[in-house]
Amino acid sequence: MGWIENRFEEGLIVTSLDRAINWARESSLWPMTFGIACCAIEMMATGASRFDIDRFGAGAFRATPRQADLMIVAGTVTFKMASRVRRLFHQMAEPRYVMAMGACTVGGGPYFVHGYHVVKGVDLVVPVDIYVPGCPPRPEALLEGLMRLQDKIHRQTIAKRPAVGVEPASKEKNA
Ligand code: SF4
Repeated sequence: MGWIENRFEEGLIVTSLDRAINWARESSLWPMTFGIACCAIEMMATGASRFDIDRFGAGAFRATPRQADLMIVAGTVTFKMASRVRRLFHQMAEPRYVMAMGACTVGGGPYFVHGYHVVKGVDLVVPVDIYVPGCPPRPEALLEGLMRLQDKIHRQTIAKRPAVGVEPASKEKNA
C-alpha cells in the first residue's frame, strides 16, 4: 500500500460509493415499533439500558412504518394478523429489511402442530433477511441477528445487476 500513502491532503476521505452508502445504512437502522406477542418483551428489553441497542445505531424505534426500514417481527403471526404485517411492510421506506424473531415467527414454533390459526413462518407473508431462533430469543440473540443483518447490508451494491437468466450484453453485440 506504500504507493498510495501520503499522496492526498489531510481531510480527504477515499472510499467507494458502495462502502459509504452501506456504512450509512447499516449504522442507522430504524426499527418499527411493532410487537405481536411475548417475543416483543425481549425486543423491548433489547432497547432498554441493560442491552442498549443504540450502540449499533438501531435504537430509534419509529412509530410509523414510513419512517422505519427494519421490521422485527416479534411474536406469533396469526392468519388474522398476516395481512396487517404485509401492509405495514409495504408502507416501510426502501431499502427495508425484515428480521424474524422467535420460533413462532420463524416456523410456527410451539403452534406448529395444533395451531390452526398460526402462520407457519412469516416468510410466507414477507421476505425475511435474518432469522433469530428461540422461544423467546434472549436480547443477546437479537443483537447477534442485528449484527448479521449489518454484515448483509455491508455486502450490498448499488450497481445494476443483470436480470436472472439474461446474459450481459457483450461489446460485439453492441457494435
Ligand atoms: S417464540 Fe415463544 S416467546 Fe416468542 S412469541 Fe412464540 S411462544 Fe412467545
